Amino acid sequence: MRIDSIETILVDKYLFVEIRTDNGLVGLGEGGAWGFHEATAGAVLRFKDYLLGQDPLRIEHHWQYMYRWAHFRGSAVMAAISAIDIALWDITGKHFDAPVHALLGGKVRDKARAYYHVFGETKEELFSGIEDAKKMGFTAVGHLTPFLDSRREVPYFQTHAEKIGDAVDTVRQYREIAGRGMDLCIEIHRRMTPYEAVQLGRAIEPFHPLFIEDPITPDNLDEMAYVADKISIPIATGERMTSLWEFQMLLARNAVQLVRPDVCIVGGISGARKIAALAEASHAGVVPHNPLSAVSTAACLQIAATAPNFVLQEFPNDTWDVTDKRPDSDSFLIGAARHDGEGFLTISDEPGIGISLRPDAAEKFPYRARKMHTRLHKDGSVVDQ
Ligand SMILES: [Mg+2]
Repeated sequence: MRIDSIETILVDKYLFVEIRTDNGLVGLGEGGAWGFHEATAGAVLRFKDYLLGQDPLRIEHHWQYMYRWAHFRGSAVMAAISAIDIALWDITGKHFDAPVHALLGGKVRDKARAYYHVFGETKEELFSGIEDAKKMGFTAVGHLTPFLDSRREVPYFQTHAEKIGDAVDTVRQYREIAGRGMDLCIEIHRRMTPYEAVQLGRAIEPFHPLFIEDPITPDNLDEMAYVADKISIPIATGERMTSLWEFQMLLARNAVQLVRPDVCIVGGISGARKIAALAEASHAGVVPHNPLSAVSTAACLQIAATAPNFVLQEFPNDTWDVTDKRPDSDSFLIGAARHDGEGFLTISDEPGIGISLRPDAAEKFPYRARKMHTRLHKDGSVVDQ
């Protein structure tokens, strides 16, 4: 069996890679550098030179070849390797007529606990998002900011006392609405400095969040370790990291209790499963990052199925952001994972990763590149949100 063709397909806001073999198998993968799909597609084109004519079953060898042939890596290159890796695993599963998880040692669980995304420009929207999740049967909510998901056009300003005080009040209200039957995954989106993160983290400890995610910008691992050392809420981080080696440095500093590898960024299923094993050795849990399509979810579920230290799966609902709707998964994909109504996702036993792209997907949902806009402070400087 040989690789016959490799194609990048932009659909709506997603970048997919389809690999076809000379005996008619098709593998599907997705790249996760969502701000730079064009660069990812360029990297896939570069790797195509090497991959055409190769045996698709030698996944690890191809991974090493792509990763090590040039000096330059980073998110777009790793998104390309990830999409190719996922597609090769999909082909391998189809070749052996087995789900990928069966080839990774078999399922250690039958379904994956998931968290529902909550967004809101107002507190009321955020509160009703928690209520919605509860009604649907979820037992965890995430993307849940103690601030607001304000529109980026709105200049930011809060005093320190407002920032910390309002956030603590909001988390208290989240807990009152959620009760103990719902875990709160508090998402900071890098909106605090280390000293702010410690103040807020300590103040919301009584409300028992499952984790606090990216309390500070993750660029400085020592500062993340500083925050982790000073609060008792587990820190979740890692969605921007692109390699096993970065996760090792994070874990070595005790800067994280729940790693958040993005299977479409860290080198696909091959990269994510190694990160899960690395975390397992530190008694850290895995919460796969997944802001993308149902293809990403299908790849994440291979990790959920096989990693003993899997904790929770991010599961995007049908909103892209607070103002924009994404097409329903079923309208361009076949085989999307389902919520079982009790807070879990079903894990497919179909060969490969169990999902495929409808042939008319790109035609029906043309590519919409994300607009480049970020939030500014009232004084005109750039803020993180
Ligand atoms: Mg996040």
